[in-house]
Amino acid sequence: MNKFWSDMVKRTQPYEPGEQLNDPHIIKLNTNENPYEPSPSVKKAIVDEMDGGLQLYPSPTADMLRSAIATAKDVSMEEVFVGNGSDEVLAFSFMAFFQPGKTIRFPSITYSFYPVYSKLFDIPFEQMPLKEDFTIDVESFFDSEGGVILPNPNAPTSIYEELATIEQIIEKNPHTVVIIDEAYIDFAGPSAIELIRKYDNLLVIQTTSKSRSLAGMRVGYAIGNSNLIDALVRLKDSFNSYTVDRLAMAAATAAFEDKAYLQKTVSKIKETREWTVTELERLGFDVLPSSANFVFAVHRSVKAIDLYEYLKEEKILVRHFNIPLIDNYLRISIGTDEQMNVLLNKISSYLMS
Ligand code: PMP
Repeated sequence: MNKFWSDMVKRTQPYEPGEQLNDPHIIKLNTNENPYEPSPSVKKAIVDEMDGGLQLYPSPTADMLRSAIATAKDVSMEEVFVGNGSDEVLAFSFMAFFQPGKTIRFPSITYSFYPVYSKLFDIPFEQMPLKEDFTIDVESFFDSEGGVILPNPNAPTSIYEELATIEQIIEKNPHTVVIIDEAYIDFAGPSAIELIRKYDNLLVIQTTSKSRSLAGMRVGYAIGNSNLIDALVRLKDSFNSYTVDRLAMAAATAAFEDKAYLQKTVSKIKETREWTVTELERLGFDVLPSSANFVFAVHRSVKAIDLYEYLKEEKILVRHFNIPLIDNYLRISIGTDEQMNVLLNKISSYLMS
């Protein structure tokens, strides 16, 4: 360890993202990106914005984008915060609502950034075991000391918890903030956004990276009571008042305005997901019920790591986690029909070899 490193750096364990291989022939099913390009109106908005003057700073209040999000989500602009990907919005939220000395809770199997941020910001955490079917044990989240963060649908399990379950958790933590990370919500059921007026301790975080095909643009957002939003704005203004750049803002605004494109691509991905699950089951996998743009699957006889290595050699990337309990599972993002067919054919050849 470097003697010049601060304690904060020393206790930090960086998040390991899925591999990014720079080979255009790779079929990339490891980081839950959308296989479809963003709405055509996004490209046009970016080009128009480039003509508009990149020499100028972007709007620090991101009014245009916040207004487009508010309209799409049926909330007011004062209830919307935007940031550079939902990872950044999550980081601001950890700083704003969780604190050293007060233990927060999240599930034992969940988005691997939560322990990273907890350690970075010196926030103690408890990981609540999931039930055998990988759903959450709702009561284990009641009466937390420092707050709760839950992805819904959960990652990497892909399981969606009904809003009534989420509401119970919010109700049973009236003195702390409950963050619901809805990165994959557009592939699932109703969003907890409809509860923000009922609960002033609820913060919902979403992203344009998945359903709106804008992972490369890095635009995430939080929706909640304006008091919570004000806290995030205060932090943002101290660290980087321009968290979303001009091109990203123009792109995301256009994406929110094209509802029809969102519906079309989301239904297509869900349709591909359904037949992919059937085929995986036919090939000997057990697949958890997915409400996301990925599936979480375990083969009844083949080791996940072997299959993962084989697929990588065949230029198909899927995700394998070196975590006990799930180290025999593969997380597979839903690509195009063509990509899923190549994947299934390769798995089938492997099983026959
Ligand atoms: N939350 C969850 C549960 C995720 O899986 C991801 C994507 N890896 C994110 C947040 C972050 O997404 P982004 O920063 O692209 O908005």
